Amino acid sequence: MEIEIIEPKHEIVDEINSQAILKKIERIGRVSHKSEDRTAPGTAEEFIKKLLGWGHESILEHVSFTVKFICDRGVTHELVRHRIAAYTQESTRYCNYSGKIQFIKPLFFKEDSEAYRLWLESCEACASSYLKLISSGAKPEEARDVLSNSLKTEIYATYNLREWRHVFKMRCQKAAHPQIREIMIPLLEELQKEIPVIFDDFEIITIDDSYPKAAIKKV
Ligand SMILES: Cc1cc2nc3c(=O)[nH]c(=O)nc-3n(C[C@H](O)[C@H](O)[C@H](O)COP(=O)(O)OP(=O)(O)OC[C@H]3O[C@@H](n4cnc5c(N)ncnc54)[C@H](O)[C@@H]3O)c2cc1C
Repeated sequence: MEIEIIEPKHEIVDEINSQAILKKIERIGRVSHKSEDRTAPGTAEEFIKKLLGWGHESILEHVSFTVKFICDRGVTHELVRHRIAAYTQESTRYCNYSGKIQFIKPLFFKEDSEAYRLWLESCEACASSYLKLISSGAKPEEARDVLSNSLKTEIYATYNLREWRHVFKMRCQKAAHPQIREIMIPLLEELQKEIPVIFDDFEIITIDDSYPKAAIKKV
């Protein structure tokens, strides 16, 4: 039975056209005070910043984008608790892993440690039990019961910009699980480059060298 250990990753599925997004939000936001005539090149950033400062975040709900995450099933169990969302996930009911099973490397176990060896041993054991169950006639939806939280999964998550900000606030904070921070912090860093005005009120901090960074929302 082949098992493969892989790293988690993310991919922004949509093209992020920062200028078009800001222009759209400004256009929508300006209807409140009928200030459309004040729109000019470069006004969107300042206008949106002002509205966000007031907590007028509903304007962000008009823009959504999708991200594909490859991570473990423990992480997606946390992700899908966020409800203002659309999700589509690889199904352990329908996918048959008897050819190869992939597991996500846990960042907190160093590869040369006893903990990592024990973790790897458990992946091999559950993969072996899975294969035996399939070989004895079990369906994938039945055999999956022996698989662990570390099983690799793929999920597409779509949130609007307001919900993305909420998810980052909850899932990048120091109290969040290190493996969800591990996928969320690089995404937040990418978005801070793409659309700074929407995400630059998060400050990314280093906790310690062996752990992923955290982000705190500046007040
Ligand atoms: C560090 C950490 C530890 C956690 N530990 C646990 C745990 O031990 N056990 C556990 O079960 N969960 C736990 N959770 C999950 C947590 O309770 C939430 O379910 C999860 O973070 C989803 O976020 P959310 O509820 O804010 O809302 P989302 O679903 O992301 O919704 C966004 C916002 O919309 C509003 N909203 C959405 N739905 C409703 C509604 N029905 N009514 C009113 N307002 C609504 C709220 O303002 C909410 O904050 C933990 C989360 C974190 C970050």
